[in-house]
Formats: sequence, structure tokens, C-alpha cells
Amino acid sequence: MKTTKIIAVVNQKGGVGKTTTAMNLGIGLSKSGYKTLLVDFDPQGDLTCCLGWKDSDSLNLTTSTLLMNTINNKETDFEELILHHNEGVDLVPSNIDLASAEVNLIQAFTRETILRNSLSRIKDEYDYIIIDCPPTLGLLTVNALSAATDVIIPVQTHYLSAKGMTRLIGSISQVKNHVNPNLNIAGICLTLYDARTNVAKSTVEAVKDGYEKHIRIFNTIIPMGIKASESGIDGKSVYEYAKNSEVASAYSKLTKEVINATLKSKSEVMR
Ligand code: ADP
Ligand code: MG
Repeated sequence: MKTTKIIAVVNQKGGVGKTTTAMNLGIGLSKSGYKTLLVDFDPQGDLTCCLGWKDSDSLNLTTSTLLMNTINNKETDFEELILHHNEGVDLVPSNIDLASAEVNLIQAFTRETILRNSLSRIKDEYDYIIIDCPPTLGLLTVNALSAATDVIIPVQTHYLSAKGMTRLIGSISQVKNHVNPNLNIAGICLTLYDARTNVAKSTVEAVKDGYEKHIRIFNTIIPMGIKASESGIDGKSVYEYAKNSEVASAYSKLTKEVINATLKSKSEVMR
């Protein structure tokens, strides 16, 4: 049986680099030969937009459809649902409909595991599934954590960015204790690093001091770089948009670290 790694990219703060990390990690994994599905799990549909489907609100089949089908005991036609990006990743897109699906989740039986159940029929077709979470710790994020094998926490290297981490780790523990005992925190990924500022350096130190003992902090720090934000406008990864940029090189290194952190047996790593 295939052991698909399902990674939730989580932080209840917005603007910390979740979507950019999900996208470039997903495409990085795909370029490394792993069949990868990205799941846009934010009603804002940013990942869908960054991958080139700009008018996400006009899409009829989305993560909302997937959840509603599971709630209503209907089969999902994945061939119709899944979009294919030209850099090799697949995508379950999202849009504002996910906000109303969340309301329906509240009343659903086994409401914490609807996404896990939704993905069960498709998951064996992929090596990695990456879930881009919304900036909340609500029921959507709980569903992502329940479906996941691993969690990556992007943390922006700015003042106050470590604030809220205790709550986030508390939520992860709750899901682990009650719904998903094997959930593993793969690591914290420091993002939006501006080497010219002291606050960036002191945040890196503060996050290391506070968490390194218990949680892996990926060695690769994602630098601040305009190419990272421009590439999404073009619907491309940083590798395609600016392959010689520092950001592209950082995401490529992070991808390797994530592969090593998530694939445990050597034979799998060597693949
Ligand atoms: P989140 O999903 O956590 O809200 P995003 O990935 O959307 O965060 O990033 C927030 C904003 O910062 C976006 O406009 C994005 O394009 C930009 N951004 C993300 N990573 C970088 C980076 N390394 N350098 C510069 N801008 C970035
Ligand atoms: Mg986002």
C-alpha cells in the first residue's frame, strides 16, 4: 500500500507565506518526481489564483463540492474536479463557496473528518498531497489537520510573528489527541526573511530559542524577494518565473528538507 504524505500548511495568521510555500513546495515535489496534489482549502482561493485560475469564483467544482458530496454521501468525479497545472502538479481549486460549505460542516456527522473521508478515494494516486489552509483555527483548519500526516508551519520573520504559536500548537495537539494520533509536525519554516533588518535576525533567534527543542526548524530560511510575489501573478512557480533567484533556490532546498523529514525509510528517500 502506498503511504501518501498529506501535509497541511498551517498558521492562523494571514500573510506569513502559507500559500506561496504550499505552491512552491508542491511544484518542487512534483519536479523531484513525486506525484503531487495541491488542495486549496482557503475560501479566498489564493492558491487557485496563483496557479493561474484567476477567476476562481466562476469555478463550479471546488473543495466545497468535494466536502458537500461527502456530507451528502455522493461520489465525487475527481476527473472533473481536479485541474492540471502545466508544471506538473494537480489542484483541487477553491473559491468563496468554501465559506458556505464550512457552515454545513458544523452540522455534519463526524464534522472533523469530512476532508479526510473526501480524500480517501483519491489519495493513493499521489505521493504527496499539500493542503493550503485558511488563516483561522476554525473547522476548516481542524479538517485539514485531521486529514494530514504532517504539518508545516510557516512563520514570518517579523516582530510579533511568534505570537499565537502557543494556540496553534495547542490546536494541533487537540487534533492529535482526539482525531489523528499519528499527526506529526514536520517543521517550522521561517519565511519573508529580510537580512538587512535586525528584527528578522532576532525573530529567527526567538523562534529557535522557543521551539527548537521540540519542533524541527527547517535550516532553509525563505528570503524576502519580489520574485516570490510576482510569480503568482503570472500563474508560475518561482522556479519557472525566476529560476536563478534566491527565493527559487531556497524553495528548492526546502523541498529536499521536506522530503527527508517526511519520508522515513531510507529506500523511500533514495527513490
Ligand atoms: P498566506 O497564505 O500566509 O496569507 P502568502 O503566501 O499569500 O501568505 O503571502 C503573503 C504575501 O506575501 C503575498 O502577497 C505573497 O505574494 C507575498 N510573499 C510570500 N512570500 C514572499 C517572499 N518570500 N518574498 C516576498 N513576498 C512574498
Ligand atoms: Mg494563503
